[in-house]
Amino acid sequence: MQKTARKYVKTASKVEIKSAHFLKSSQHYSELPPGDKPEFAFVGRSNVGKSSLINRLTRHKGLAKTSSTPGKTQLFNHFVIDGSWYLVDLPGYGFARVSKKARVGFENMIRDYTTRRQSLVTVFVLVDSRLEPQKLDLEFMEYLGLSQVPFSIVFTKTDKVNKTKLQAQLEAYKATLLETWEELPPVFQTSAENGEGCPELLHYIAENIRLLDGLLPPV
Ligand code: GDP
Repeated sequence: MQKTARKYVKTASKVEIKSAHFLKSSQHYSELPPGDKPEFAFVGRSNVGKSSLINRLTRHKGLAKTSSTPGKTQLFNHFVIDGSWYLVDLPGYGFARVSKKARVGFENMIRDYTTRRQSLVTVFVLVDSRLEPQKLDLEFMEYLGLSQVPFSIVFTKTDKVNKTKLQAQLEAYKATLLETWEELPPVFQTSAENGEGCPELLHYIAENIRLLDGLLPPV
């Protein structure tokens, strides 16, 4: 029993991405690539550290473009990982000066994507670990929960906060969630700077793919 557990941990620490390449950008639901692989989406407020984390996870410095500018067309970017799953970089939300048209476009696309995309396994909602719970993030998680879309919370930039403060901050965040939720979704603490949490995140993805094996609907 103990031997199996140890073997499991050893495997977990070894999970890493071997190949990653950009497939396509889509502005509308109809433009998405065929849902022929399990997909994992990354979303969060602009500047949360999404591109940096994707680049760290894939060990591919320029894969996701960092510091995207507000007002640009909001695209869903599909990346093929190890030929077996899609990492989807969703547009950042919460730009202060984004036009109403862009906001509505984003909301429609997110709604279509999260409710219709059968190959979507889970959404990773990125949250800056230095900030108090933000209304926009909480509302987005509320939306996912009510729509029964599986999601996890990924705290970013943990290297920027000292350990004691970080734990207090995360506990306060969880307490806020538990005011409205019965249980917490999976939570990850990550840093694109020092790689904290990346093996855990990749292991979680690998485990989900393993469980899904053969269960995806045909396209
Ligand atoms: P995005 O807009 O969500 O894609 O955010 P970016 O990945 O472009 O990151 C925004 C800023 O935060 C950039 O200046 C990054 O260098 C910085 N950043 C992102 N992740 C981390 C991290 O884990 N640690 C630190 N110290 N800085 C980070």
